[in-house]
Amino acid sequence: MSLRVAIVGSGPAGVYTAEALVKQAAGPVEVDVLERLPTPYGLVRYGVAPDHTSIKSIAGYLRRVLELPGVRFLGGIEFGRDVTVDDLRACYDAVVYCTGAMVDRRMGIPGEDLPGSVAATDFVNWYCGHPDMPADRFVLDSPEVAVIGVGNVAVDVVRVLAKTAEELRSTDVPEEVLSRLAESQVKVIHMIGRRGPEHAKFTLKELRELGELANADVCVRPDEAPVSGEMAALSRQVRGNVEVIQAWAARSPAGRPRRLDVRFWMRPVEILGDGRVEALRLERTRLDDGRVVGTGEFETLPVGMVLRSVGYRSVPLPGVPFSEATMTVPNEAGRVRDREYVAGWLKRGPTGVIGTNKSDAAETVRTLLADLSGRDPVRHADLDAVLAERGVSPVTYRQWLSIEAAEAALARTLGRGERVKLAGLAAMLSALERAE
Ligand code: NAP
Repeated sequence: MSLRVAIVGSGPAGVYTAEALVKQAAGPVEVDVLERLPTPYGLVRYGVAPDHTSIKSIAGYLRRVLELPGVRFLGGIEFGRDVTVDDLRACYDAVVYCTGAMVDRRMGIPGEDLPGSVAATDFVNWYCGHPDMPADRFVLDSPEVAVIGVGNVAVDVVRVLAKTAEELRSTDVPEEVLSRLAESQVKVIHMIGRRGPEHAKFTLKELRELGELANADVCVRPDEAPVSGEMAALSRQVRGNVEVIQAWAARSPAGRPRRLDVRFWMRPVEILGDGRVEALRLERTRLDDGRVVGTGEFETLPVGMVLRSVGYRSVPLPGVPFSEATMTVPNEAGRVRDREYVAGWLKRGPTGVIGTNKSDAAETVRTLLADLSGRDPVRHADLDAVLAERGVSPVTYRQWLSIEAAEAALARTLGRGERVKLAGLAAMLSALERAE
């Protein structure tokens, strides 16, 4: 008899978990990958920047996993609405939660909720064509914008804002979003780090790309570029970042249409505006025993939009344990409780690159298989019957392929790249109805 496992979430963690189950199990396995959206691949599809084509090509690897014998994709199934923990426990020998980290962390400063103060997660979802984010959600009508945070997500957001629409034309950005980017009034982008260049979270490859932008000059203030300690004491990666930043501080702008001001030792203290964002108030910082403290020196930037890129966080799943302190599901090597497991960002927090989820998923699967080894199957019900009884019809893998085909056809019609994302859930659902 096969081991039957349900995976909740079809992002990289979910699909790597499916792969690890097929590879590690001694006997036959049947894996159902449940997904809220009609489309698989989670963050690879809706988080990786559209111009990062080599990272996006991971989707090709994930696709081969979903096509493995014994693995099944069930889209359009929302955990907590269409199926519950009890349903899955009744239908499968084990459940693995892999829903990632879908929402933004808060900064906790006044003005954070003013219109024009935007979570980077929303902005990323917008340019990636996430069905939850309408294509007309953003108008880039401010000449100056601020991006808070100096991690890789901030770098992605800055790069998309700095590039011309023409540069993004061959990507899969929805056509409606591309038009908005073409109409962008943005001239100056401020990227704000609350600590020094040696503390920034971005990685060297991603940072260097900013220096290669054809449409924007990158500026760093010479007084914000030095490091506090010895360069030799820094890791190779950090030293590389600092060297790039110091080289930018030494060069003069070439007069490109846009400017990126990368700032350090400044923290946001208030977003100002009457009914919408009109300015961002910053305070200079220093470290006191490793803690960021303000020096009482302030500066106000005349920005009309603030993009908060200060990290992602997971959201609790109905009926599943969750720690508000760590914003993760408490687990031991992936085990949450009997027959329930977790993998990916929901397990360890939003850190690491996509590939990190592969070893993370493998650990969870090792725990699961060791726990279940020699145990009798416990399932009594069949998910297809449960869903049919509730009138819920999942989006099948074949139907997802018809959405993909419609995206490729749209790209051909528009004379753009390999694919263009369909904007909105309705467009996706009508593509799969047309293919029926
Ligand atoms: P991140 O790497 O944790 O960076 C968050 C940034 O926000 C840090 O600079 C942090 O500064 C700052 N921050 C946090 N709270 C703040 C506050 N209250 N005020 C001001 N600044 C604040 O998170 P991320 O950029 O969202 O990236 C998440 C993960 O995805 C990372 O592992 C990243 O490498 C990965 N990712 C990778 C790629 C790629 O490989 N190309 C692309 C995108 C994302 P402190 O350090 O001072 O806290």
